[in-house]
Amino acid sequence: MPSFHGNLSRRTLATIVPLSFIGAGIVWKVWHLRRSSERTKMALDGLVSTGRKARRHPTYWFPDGTLIVRIRSDAEEDTSFRIHSSLIYRKSRLIQRILPESPHGAEPTTISIPPELGLQIADFTAVLEHLYHDSPLSPGASFPHVAAILRASGGDTLDMPDVHSLARSYVVSMFPSGPVPFAHPSHLEEALALATAHRIPSIRKGIFYSIVTTSDFEPEEPESPVPDLSGSPASSNADDDSSKISAPLSQRHILPLADVERCRNLMTAIVEHYTPILFTPPATPHMACTDVFADKWMPLVIHPALASDGVYKPLESLESIKGIDWGAQGLCPACAREKREEWAQEQADIWEKMDKWLDLDAESDWTE
Ligand SMILES: [Zn+2]
Repeated sequence: MPSFHGNLSRRTLATIVPLSFIGAGIVWKVWHLRRSSERTKMALDGLVSTGRKARRHPTYWFPDGTLIVRIRSDAEEDTSFRIHSSLIYRKSRLIQRILPESPHGAEPTTISIPPELGLQIADFTAVLEHLYHDSPLSPGASFPHVAAILRASGGDTLDMPDVHSLARSYVVSMFPSGPVPFAHPSHLEEALALATAHRIPSIRKGIFYSIVTTSDFEPEEPESPVPDLSGSPASSNADDDSSKISAPLSQRHILPLADVERCRNLMTAIVEHYTPILFTPPATPHMACTDVFADKWMPLVIHPALASDGVYKPLESLESIKGIDWGAQGLCPACAREKREEWAQEQADIWEKMDKWLDLDAESDWTE
């Protein structure tokens, strides 16, 4: 028995020793491999971030993605997107500047978008929704989606010229221009900011017109302090304090003050220009036709215009004057045709004068 034991022990030992060498070798190799890949990854991470935490984007994190893009979400955390480099590398000059060649190989390459570019997570997500065809740019795309892509793809952010010009063309088509009346989607202030930042002069005029005719563009006034009639220094100090406390709330202007000023000027100029036209029945070469206007102008034109704010909506007001069946009111066909042409010309004149009223000439060096 002891010899059997001894034999077994020797044989076992003889087997175990080389196996353990092999095992240790494998363990070492795996450990070494992992360490070196960790080192590579850490080196890259170190290159692109400073030990900040990053959370994975819930949608755009693909296990087989070759490019990890980190964007600063807030003061403490980044958001990471793991995407397919082939989809975005060719299109984004920013990513080409960060990485001289498109990532390839098993390990994904991590880059960090410099926070000073101001690229927003939501805007980058919108670009990915477009690139992955989850929500591509199309005539049915919503304004916020197109606006996000326009912002993210600009030359000072991801710098994606093709995507940017496509987004731009959709924004332009969403904001048609005069002189015929037009309707714009909401988000006028955001659209104006986009048109200014991305130099789309062709839509700015129309957006100004929409803001003036459909919205209250005046910034909210700070609540006026209760007039102090007592004149006592103590109570006037109290008023000062309360107005200081309420000041931050009143500073929430949506439009830049320069644009508010433009809106005021446009409103004033429109009313000054259009009031005499609206309130004066037109003359015609025929006495009978002039009488028709004299009789019908008040009930058919002035009253409806006053009811629908037509005084400062000249394009719409003139369009409805053109739409009246003047023949049925007794106007001769020649006068009806001639007046309709005059009102259309008036729309075109107003549209042209708006450049001056808005002082947009200074920006005529803008290119489309
Ligand atoms: Zn006539």
